[in-house]
Amino acid sequence: MLDKIQVTRSSMPDYEEYCEEIKDLWDSRWLTNFGSKYRQLEQQLKDMQGVPYTVMFANGHLALEIALAALECSGGEVITTPFTFASTTFAILRSGLTPVFCDINPETYCIDADRIETLITEKTVAILPVHVYGSVCDYKKIQSIADKHGLKVIYDAAHAFGEEVDGTPVGALGDMSMFSFHATKVFNSIEGGCLTLSDAELEKKCMAMCQFGITGKDKIDYIGTNAKMNEFSAAMGLCNLRRLDEYIEGRRAADRRYRERLGGVEGITLREIQSNVKSNYAYFPIVIDPERFGEDRDSLMDRLARNEIYSRKYFYPLTSEFDAVKKLVDPGDTPVAKQIADRVLTIPLYSELSAEDVDRICDIILEVKR
Ligand SMILES: *Cc1c(COP(=O)(O)O)cnc(C)c1O
Repeated sequence: MLDKIQVTRSSMPDYEEYCEEIKDLWDSRWLTNFGSKYRQLEQQLKDMQGVPYTVMFANGHLALEIALAALECSGGEVITTPFTFASTTFAILRSGLTPVFCDINPETYCIDADRIETLITEKTVAILPVHVYGSVCDYKKIQSIADKHGLKVIYDAAHAFGEEVDGTPVGALGDMSMFSFHATKVFNSIEGGCLTLSDAELEKKCMAMCQFGITGKDKIDYIGTNAKMNEFSAAMGLCNLRRLDEYIEGRRAADRRYRERLGGVEGITLREIQSNVKSNYAYFPIVIDPERFGEDRDSLMDRLARNEIYSRKYFYPLTSEFDAVKKLVDPGDTPVAKQIADRVLTIPLYSELSAEDVDRICDIILEVKR
């Protein structure tokens, strides 16, 4: 019996290495609230992203909510993509803002920067694009639109940790970027996330907001929440960051093998890695044209599952199509996003996925062609 292959598998350091990393916590008894592990990881992330500030959180979603809350523009509109994980859209709605859905680029699957300006109104306060699957958004065009109209840009960079675009770390783009360190992401701190930013005021606000709004002794300036990263998570982050290159290399090898096997197959479109991007190989989405491939996305997904290979419909349905969202806001007109969502399947990719497993997955996918 062959082993099950899940869509992802968490990267972990050696058990001994993690134990060594957390050992001093038994002496310090400092388990959370910005201890030494937090400070070390914070410094490493700042160096890596080339930004003056980073604030770390219990998870990426709360990082995004706090980024939006820190803008203090409740009631405003945020131009965003519906082709993403629920978190992006929910962060906007839960912050008292209204998402305005923009269509996506058919090659990168990121927000179509050419369509943003038509969606701007006097209520627009920010643009929240997503570097989906690790494809980097058209950041130059987005920034020039934001500058022209006085809008903030917050990137959901949950998929883009470790990436560079035109030689710049992605965390340096826009006003703020959010990274998720969830167990399933390229880099994890079990649960966790961060914001990277360069504005000192915003940094102070975000730091306070993740700690009940406390800004000093007997001083509470914001309606905050509890979203701090704890020391055990920061320690996991420190261990995993040491191995990031190794993790990405493992993913790159699997990605390359997939491309050798599935590139040029009729009816399968692969996401191209952008030539100006140093990729982290976070996901392997394939887009199925049912007529040309000979089978639709859902049947392929079922056939893989019958062979104990588990893929995911990332991202279907569009967040604008969720019942919970549809009843609150206009789903917009996003035909490209709709077509991709109806056809996309994200197949297994993680750093320890072997060439044999990739071959097994590809053999099953290609059975329909025989
Ligand atoms: C994972 C993810 C998030 C949320 O991050 P968590 O750390 O799981 O809270 C947000 N946006 C996108 C696109 C994600 O994939």
